[in-house]
Amino acid sequence: MKTIDVCGIPFEVKEIEPNNRADDFMGREDSVSCIITINVRMTREMKQSTLIHEWIHSILDTMGFGEISGNENLVSVLQNELYRAGFRLHKRNKK
Ligand SMILES: [Zn+2]
Repeated sequence: MKTIDVCGIPFEVKEIEPNNRADDFMGREDSVSCIITINVRMTREMKQSTLIHEWIHSILDTMGFGEISGNENLVSVLQNELYRAGFRLHKRNKK
């Protein structure tokens, strides 16, 4: 499985098919199960950018900033600026 590091905790990254045509989710994050889910149908660039978005949510949730994590505008601004500046997350293989 592929993981990324969130505050020292490996979060599993799964790319999945949307449930149906109307399901246009880009990504989801579960900081209890330590799983980030990305829509497999997106372009490589969108997946990378979405992974940054979910990683930011995961950091905030893991560190007890759940209320700030609920601010989608803030998370999206950070996502976009990190992505524009060339920041990329590198997934690691874990058994
Ligand atoms: Zn979000």
